[in-house]
Amino acid sequence: MAKVGNRQEKTLACTVCKSQNYRTSKNVKNTTDRIELNKFCKTCGKHTLHKEEK
Ligand SMILES: [Zn+2]
Repeated sequence: MAKVGNRQEKTLACTVCKSQNYRTSKNVKNTTDRIELNKFCKTCGKHTLHKEEK
C-alpha cells in the first residue's frame, strides 16, 4: 500500500515561453532531481523542453 506524503504535485513549464502546460506528481523520495520532459507546447506549437516549477 502506497504511503501518502512522498508524492508532490509539480507544475511543468515550457522553457521557451514559460507557459505552465502540465501538472504531474513525483515521488520526492525517489526523484530528487528536477523533472525535465519533452512535451508538446500548444503556445509554441511544437515539442519543447518542460521543466519542473517550484
Ligand atoms: Zn512554449
